[in-house]
Amino acid sequence: MGENGKTFDVIVIGSGSVGNPAACFLAQAGLSVLVIERRPASGQGDNKAAIGGVRATHSDPGKISTCIESLKIFSTWEEQYGFNVGWKEGGYCFPVFDEKIEATLKGLLPIQKKFGLVIDWVGPERIAELIPGIVTKDLRGGTFSPHDGQVSSILAPMAFEREAKNNGAVYHFNERVTGYLREGDRITGVVTDKGEYASAEVVLAAGADAAEHSEWLGFDVPVVPDSHEAGISAPVEQFLEPLVVDLRPGPEGRTANFYFGQNAEGQIIFCYTPKELFLGTNRESLSEFLPILANRMISLVPRLKNLLIRRIWRGCYPMTPDGVPIIDRAPGLEGLVLAVGMCGQGFMMGPGVAKNVTSLIVDGTTCLPEEAHHCFRYDRDFYAAKNEALK
Ligand SMILES: Cc1cc2nc3c(=O)[nH]c(=O)nc-3n(C[C@H](O)[C@H](O)[C@H](O)COP(=O)(O)OP(=O)(O)OC[C@H]3O[C@@H](n4cnc5c(N)ncnc54)[C@H](O)[C@@H]3O)c2cc1C
Repeated sequence: MGENGKTFDVIVIGSGSVGNPAACFLAQAGLSVLVIERRPASGQGDNKAAIGGVRATHSDPGKISTCIESLKIFSTWEEQYGFNVGWKEGGYCFPVFDEKIEATLKGLLPIQKKFGLVIDWVGPERIAELIPGIVTKDLRGGTFSPHDGQVSSILAPMAFEREAKNNGAVYHFNERVTGYLREGDRITGVVTDKGEYASAEVVLAAGADAAEHSEWLGFDVPVVPDSHEAGISAPVEQFLEPLVVDLRPGPEGRTANFYFGQNAEGQIIFCYTPKELFLGTNRESLSEFLPILANRMISLVPRLKNLLIRRIWRGCYPMTPDGVPIIDRAPGLEGLVLAVGMCGQGFMMGPGVAKNVTSLIVDGTTCLPEEAHHCFRYDRDFYAAKNEALK
């Protein structure tokens, strides 16, 4: 047995957007924690691909409640622990140019407000103030949620790891989990490429690699990597407060929507959602990304045409069939909590998910309202929304 035969209270598999804050909050709760990460440092998986948008502006209760918790944690981190995570409270703004998107966004407001999100529909003049230089032809208005914001996906992992270690968590980097120890229906630890470790609980937070655990666990972990690209400019003077999401599909036929913001350092950071899913783990940048993205950004805000682009990258969304994470106890097995399938929102959900995982382990129950927890259950019908749409 590794680590001098010591049994840990919890082993966390993966030190990414979810596993790293989970280790931090579990250690803060007084548990002995071992984090096993196959890469050389925290946050080096898809965490660092995130552009750092943190919003509670979602359409389902689970994501809204979880991200409200994340926002509390990120926005107060520096005050509480003296470590700058690049927090910028500029809000999220969805400018709207067509009737259908207006109806969709207005239709979401009641549920968003019910779960505590501060958000409203604002007129075109306010949108033009929030996004200086936006084209105003056909602009109908949009939604604005002032307390959403941005965080650095480079600084956040350092912050959580530092606090986890301050509370006694042990990190093993360059070590890969390759299986589980079990006694009957209980997981009792993990096997790695370097040894075996015993624990009372295991948290599976392996991101885009989660599906390979299906075979070792004997049930399906339905996570498929779907790749996305992003980029960042050289810094310019601060002029843009909110992160901007344009939900219109692009005229080039390749983009479903696109979004961008200005981070705390003044850099413009941007992404688009491809119209078709791009499955697989290839992380090489594509030559088509920047020309398509540049056209979309300049068509919306022409003044962005002078930006100097520093770099682009590609990473994975760990997708579930219904686009919602799984945060739950494993089916038919004790000693295992699943925190997988974060899709395109794992960075913003990470700290909130981590609080929930801590609650599942320490208190034996979720800290979310039942309606919110229900969205994340393993035993939900993953294909219900698709089947409904086909009716
Ligand atoms: C271009 C792009 C932009 C994005 N922008 C945003 C954004 O603005 N906001 C947002 O919220 N999300 C964003 N995302 C999504 C976000 O990056 C992911 O949802 C999130 O990082 C997933 O978190 P995770 O903890 O599940 O996975 P990761 O952060 O990838 O962590 C999983 C970790 O587990 C480790 N691991 C895997 N298998 C093993 C094993 N067997 N043994 C040991 N270690 C293992 C991996 O090395 C990895 O470090 C973006 C993603 C992309 C690609």
